[in-house]
Amino acid sequence: MAEAQVSPAGASHLLPTYARIDVAFARGEGCWLEATDGRRFLDFGAGIAVCCLGHSHPHLVKALIEQGQKLWHVSNLFKIPEAERLADRLVEKSFADFVFFTNSGAEALEGAIKTARKYHAANGQPERFRLVTFEGAFHGRTLATIAAGGNPKYIEGFGPKVEGFDPVPFGDLAAVEAAIGPQTAGVLVEPIQGEGGIRVPSQDFLRGLRALCDAKGILLVMDEVQTGMGRTGRLFAHELVGVTPDVLATAKGIGGGFPLGAFMTTREAGKGMIAGTHGTTYGGNPLAMACGNAVLDVVLAPGFLEEVARKGSLLRQRLAELRDTHPDIIAEIRGEGMMLGIRTHVPNLDFAAAVRGQQMLVIPAGENTVRLLPPLVAGEAEIGEAFNRLDKACRALEADLAAKKTGASA
Ligand SMILES: *Cc1c(COP(=O)(O)O)cnc(C)c1O
Repeated sequence: MAEAQVSPAGASHLLPTYARIDVAFARGEGCWLEATDGRRFLDFGAGIAVCCLGHSHPHLVKALIEQGQKLWHVSNLFKIPEAERLADRLVEKSFADFVFFTNSGAEALEGAIKTARKYHAANGQPERFRLVTFEGAFHGRTLATIAAGGNPKYIEGFGPKVEGFDPVPFGDLAAVEAAIGPQTAGVLVEPIQGEGGIRVPSQDFLRGLRALCDAKGILLVMDEVQTGMGRTGRLFAHELVGVTPDVLATAKGIGGGFPLGAFMTTREAGKGMIAGTHGTTYGGNPLAMACGNAVLDVVLAPGFLEEVARKGSLLRQRLAELRDTHPDIIAEIRGEGMMLGIRTHVPNLDFAAAVRGQQMLVIPAGENTVRLLPPLVAGEAEIGEAFNRLDKACRALEADLAAKKTGASA
């Protein structure tokens, strides 16, 4: 399990903001990644919920190559039919009336935050610019989104924190109500906190937020960067509880691995975002749109999302079995669809390393959890394989614990 966490000092010219695991991959197919040393890994991280169709999905590869041979980029100074088409399809399947394409999740959040602020400015209340946010949230790494996420580790040393975010405990409706004041523009929430550790709030919480926003004349802004695009078995996670936002940011799975994000808004909430108020150079370019449309072809095909939900429950059942067999290692299983968290008793980084020892990838998150975010195309065979590898990893960790105990009592 002793695995080097970083490249040797001086070996890399990549800015060392990541403590990278010492594995590199040469190719991928479906749920499998082949490392440069030839080892095959079962990928239940999907590049952090991005590769929703797995690796090298033929439909996605074909779309990318065909568009790549035609046209990559023209800028948003011109009409982009591929973007019109993707926006039409997203609007048809969601609460939204308008879509703005971005290159990343953080950029989508920036747009969503600006939309919420501009709405009130357009209503003659520019003083309403604050958003109620939640402890344990993650919204990205730009200056505004680190302020919105509130994690001191990401904020410290980067100058004055962007004004206008009021964090309260996740799930605490009374605290939200108390935090809403004359300067509040809306509430910004992940329907399930991802980086925070797959924290699932009660259905009443999200419904309560909707009711509160309606009562106070403020906007409900959802961050579905991780939960969106089928991850939970619905196109968007808010559909699980029947609560619709006014503004939504999404990314990760939307491009299937091509850098793409979007923010979406109702006509009313977006009314301040008129010509000239917002822009991006790359966002929604033909190459990105070809990938986004190809992802939707698969995700919206009849039965696909139902299968995600079905396989998600199967995976969850298998994980519950693991928790019952390894109670000293696994504390809790939580999540929805194919966005599942294992809260562990051992340090989550040790758990992830033990799983990697079995040539399977999972992703650490807050509250001492690891996330299972498999490609949505993972089948029963891959789920069975995941179970076997996780089971072996738990056994190895149990052996470590037993050895430590013997060592301590000797
Ligand atoms: C990943 C993530 C982001 C940031 O997305 P980037 O593409 O890394 O900028 C924002 N919100 C949530 C919920 C995320 O999971």
